[in-house]
Amino acid sequence: MSDELSTVALELRRHLAWQEADGSRTIFADRQAKAPVNQPAPTKAVPVAPPVKAQAPAAAPVTDSGARRTLDEIRRELGDCQRCKLCKLGRHSIVFGVGNPRAELVFVGEAPGEEEDRQGVPFVGKAGQLLTKMIEAMTFRRDDVYICNVVKCRPPNNRNPEPDEIEACEPFLRAQLASIQPKVIVTLGKFAAQTLLRESTAITRLRGQWRTYQGIALMPTFHPAYLLRQPEEKRLAWLDLQEVMKRFGRTKKGQ
Ligand code: URA
Repeated sequence: MSDELSTVALELRRHLAWQEADGSRTIFADRQAKAPVNQPAPTKAVPVAPPVKAQAPAAAPVTDSGARRTLDEIRRELGDCQRCKLCKLGRHSIVFGVGNPRAELVFVGEAPGEEEDRQGVPFVGKAGQLLTKMIEAMTFRRDDVYICNVVKCRPPNNRNPEPDEIEACEPFLRAQLASIQPKVIVTLGKFAAQTLLRESTAITRLRGQWRTYQGIALMPTFHPAYLLRQPEEKRLAWLDLQEVMKRFGRTKKGQ
């Protein structure tokens, strides 16, 4: 296929995936795995953060009956996913997401690492411990928020997710966000920001600037794994998180 044709085909697939995440009939039925779901979707509901100003809700995915899809339904549709090559490259778990299905604040990372793949839960390794500290510094509890990744399966040796892997997984991320309808999304690192915003601007330029995703306020910041490698950048990430706290009318004690 010529480069131009490939680009058109990719854009078309993205458009269809976008429609699907916005509630059109599923386009994945023919590709859907028949194998049973190999891990339960998170269902734990915990108290939500205090209300903040209303914003336009994201379009919610709907079933044929018109009802909004739940995270459990989206997880079932994902099934024992074989949509990209990661299923054959040493994946142990599909790491769907964790937290409050009615969260007002959602964090989106890149892809599971080794520990996440072992436990089936996002952000439980070293970067996850830092993320938990960041969430708590923002005066939230980890259970208040929802945490997921662009790509739900671990890339081998923690390499970057590849475009076809992102493309296969992205509709499920969009469906998760449309189901939760948070007030604010915080993207962690370049892959989450660039995927949701559909642009290739460097994370160093994106971070700290409010953006909008489907009517939801979106704040790009650095990935906690990057912050572990470059601790001097934590100061900037904290500025970004403080912007998010302001949206929720929260301040850190002593500030
Ligand atoms: N890094 C991510 O982007 N996501 C995880 O779940 C863990 C590490």
